[in-house]
Amino acid sequence: MSSDAVISVHDVSKRFGGLMAVKNCSLSVERGSITGLIGPNGAGKSTLFNMVAGNFAPTSGKIIFDGQDITGLKPHQLFKLGMLRTFQIAHEFSNMTALENLMMVPGDQPGESLGTLWFRPSIARAREIEVKQKALDVIDFLKLGHVKDELAGNLSGGQKKLLELGRTMMVDAKVVLLDEVAAGVNKTLLNDLAANIERMNSELGYTFFVIEHDMDLIARLCDPVIVMAQGEVIAKGTMEELRANPMIVEAYFGG
Ligand code: ADP
Ligand code: MG
Repeated sequence: MSSDAVISVHDVSKRFGGLMAVKNCSLSVERGSITGLIGPNGAGKSTLFNMVAGNFAPTSGKIIFDGQDITGLKPHQLFKLGMLRTFQIAHEFSNMTALENLMMVPGDQPGESLGTLWFRPSIARAREIEVKQKALDVIDFLKLGHVKDELAGNLSGGQKKLLELGRTMMVDAKVVLLDEVAAGVNKTLLNDLAANIERMNSELGYTFFVIEHDMDLIARLCDPVIVMAQGEVIAKGTMEELRANPMIVEAYFGG
């Protein structure tokens, strides 16, 4: 058992008809880490993520988040507990500015419901000012000040990724799940994205669980790295350790 796992997956399997996409997987993500998940296409990485994020329930096994059994909980329930997954800026948000996009992320203040806001506009206004200040802080942290009033649809690919990351900062996230966030982002912007993930981790204490194909990015960001192949977890270690392991090199890095 690990000392301070924020996510622990116990003996989890997922069957799709006749296919066991994930087979008896156990793994943990330590609080404060940037944990990587790598493996060949079809290894079961996204399926595992989808179970952790509540997109679908495991066929068997158990998932614990911050000491609580979350097996079978839905994404919105996990969101309230502080588990967030980045998602692409939806089409309908592309006509809102970067700042407005951040302000659209739902808050989760205890006792606050749409009803109380509806009947007490002064609270709604105070809340809006608070949310706007928070959004400006996030813009500032991500150094997106020069595009804050730009429509999200007009942002570059890399800026959109930063905005997606920024949305996770609008709520009190304990863990942020990133599934191939670097796909299609050029090297310069990738560096920018990586630097921001590192700063969110080291300065703000966010834990990240990251699926990524870009091995340079994994090597730069992640410790430890978990390797999956054919639905199973086959190794866990630093990227250096994995690269020195002939079995892993053969199974994954292609000899
Ligand atoms: P990875 O993300 O590592 O590339 P996936 O988790 O996407 O792997 O897929 C693992 C296996 O499960 C693959 O064989 C894939 O075709 C299958 N699979 C994934 N999602 C579904 C689904 N919703 N229905 C049926 N099969 C699926
Ligand atoms: Mg995948």
